[in-house]
Amino acid sequence: MKPTLAARINGTIFYAYQICPREAWFYYHRLNPSQEYDLLLLGRLVHEGSYQRARKEIFVDQLLKVDLFRDEMIAEVKKSSRHKEAARLQLAFYLYYLKHEKGLEFEGVLLFPKERKTERLRLTPELEERITSLIKEMLPVLSSETPPPVKKSKYCRTCSFQEVCWG
Ligand code: SF4
Repeated sequence: MKPTLAARINGTIFYAYQICPREAWFYYHRLNPSQEYDLLLLGRLVHEGSYQRARKEIFVDQLLKVDLFRDEMIAEVKKSSRHKEAARLQLAFYLYYLKHEKGLEFEGVLLFPKERKTERLRLTPELEERITSLIKEMLPVLSSETPPPVKKSKYCRTCSFQEVCWG
């Protein structure tokens, strides 16, 4: 049986979990960093500027924010390919959600406008299995009353929660 997606796992939480489960826990519990944090602001500007003309951002169930919807393709825009695997999994989660919750089968494409890179993504049976097991793994971690312990990583230096974890 597939785990329910009714829990509040959105695209941001799914992406963050691949990088740091503690950060994902913060988002899941609606603890958001300051909107004026420099890196977030930069990310938002890249996001808003790069695909302005082609942009058709769509929210699905208040959980997924799909950057571009075109024909049978959805796109996710990232400011850099630094966390490419997390971005791939986030997009795969979108494809999975649309398939299982909406009966829609799409292909995905990752766009890294600053680096002029694109990568197409299909929801293969293997990838679908991976998303199923990730959701199973994430739900108890996210719904726990306490966050996962602090774990130092190279990502901490640029994380918007660094003051919470290390301040
Ligand atoms: S500062 Fe480090 S441990 Fe804390 S949420 Fe960010 S990445 Fe995770």
